[in-house]
Amino acid sequence: MAQSLFGKCLCGAVEIKATPAGESLSVCHCDMCRAWSSSMFMAFEADAGSVEVAGPVKVFTSSEWAERAFCATCGSALWYRITAPGLMHGQYQIAAGLFDNAGGMAPRLEVYIDKKPAGYALEGGDARRQMTEAEVIEAFAPKE
Ligand SMILES: [Zn+2]
Ligand SMILES: [Zn+2]
Repeated sequence: MAQSLFGKCLCGAVEIKATPAGESLSVCHCDMCRAWSSSMFMAFEADAGSVEVAGPVKVFTSSEWAERAFCATCGSALWYRITAPGLMHGQYQIAAGLFDNAGGMAPRLEVYIDKKPAGYALEGGDARRQMTEAEVIEAFAPKE
């Protein structure tokens, strides 16, 4: 899917254009994403060069390795972006909820599954890869 998607925040002040790097969404259940989005953060990966944004964006440095952006007017979550050096530097995870029909994609990866609250779950867990916090860190954390 090398097709640009157009989305906007709740109030419409921020407009965003991005090209998904793949054809699916990822879901994160970590503590930070849960606080940020009120449940799970669902997003698609986009190449940095494909992302165009207009409007009042605020950026919050949420950890030593990433930042999170939101609309300064309505607070809608816009993206999570890796700021740490390395292979994934600059990679965007764009909030799927900003796009009609979540960009037409389905979740195929669910991370921090061991941090998911017991009271809810996505249907069809067999249809996607699920990774625990330890597995995520093993797979993605920069090696010394
Ligand atoms: Zn807004
Ligand atoms: Zn997360």
